[in-house]
Amino acid sequence: MIDKRIIEQLKLCLQKQKKISFLVGAGISAESGIPTFRGKDGYWVSGSKNYKAQDIGTLRMFKCSPKEVWKWFLYRKSVTERAKPNQSHLMLKEIEKLLNDNFALISQNVDGLHRKAGSSEERTFLIHGDFDFVRCGDECSEELYPFPTEINLEGRNKDIITENEWKALRCPKCKENLRPHVLWFDEYYNEKYFKKNSVLQISKETGILFIIGTSGATNLPLMVANKVLVNNGMVVEINIENSYFSELLRNKSNGLLIIEKSSRFLTELKTEIENLL
Ligand SMILES: [Zn+2]
Repeated sequence: MIDKRIIEQLKLCLQKQKKISFLVGAGISAESGIPTFRGKDGYWVSGSKNYKAQDIGTLRMFKCSPKEVWKWFLYRKSVTERAKPNQSHLMLKEIEKLLNDNFALISQNVDGLHRKAGSSEERTFLIHGDFDFVRCGDECSEELYPFPTEINLEGRNKDIITENEWKALRCPKCKENLRPHVLWFDEYYNEKYFKKNSVLQISKETGILFIIGTSGATNLPLMVANKVLVNNGMVVEINIENSYFSELLRNKSNGLLIIEKSSRFLTELKTEIENLL
């Protein structure tokens, strides 16, 4: 059963044309078998080297060892390539279909599963980038290129990148190395690649924000939640454990914490929204 306060707020949003927004993270892709690369999954072993995700997923590392970084990313890409969207992704797509422009999806996931589920490009804001694209590692332009088809993603030997594959990972304009289109640990959010300003604008227009499967360890997601709260929107966290958001919402009259699995919550929420329309 969905909390009555949520239903009331949903009604208000529909009357006043306020956005109903979703901020999601790795937790919703875990059911699709995608490791989070935090905690116990946060290591990468290549040859005799053992890296922490926070060390290898950096611009600094890419500048000195681009091939090592690409080995890691190609392995991750091969995992996401096989993965299928789960019930949570599908419910988000269904809710978008019901709400159209009153809907916004802000996702930290780079795995392409929202696209596979059928979420629209216009209302999905990928604030940590997108594995389906690459861009120039030397920033000769801001252009995003589709992931090169020359790369073999099935049955990858994680320690090897072939000559042909390495050639395909060259910028078509300046021939420098291409890089994955993702936000690295030593980089900052911006508008041109990660839609920072757009997402903050959406937060102002949001009447209710659902936070699902993310711990809030990075600053833009926390800014989004804060913006919704100060503009008198409601923030609802759906989680099975405490997070930075739980701290933020504690003792706030317009904050709500719900301990439940995301797939079940979203399925019920979709039905409630259907009933309100
Ligand atoms: Zn270039």
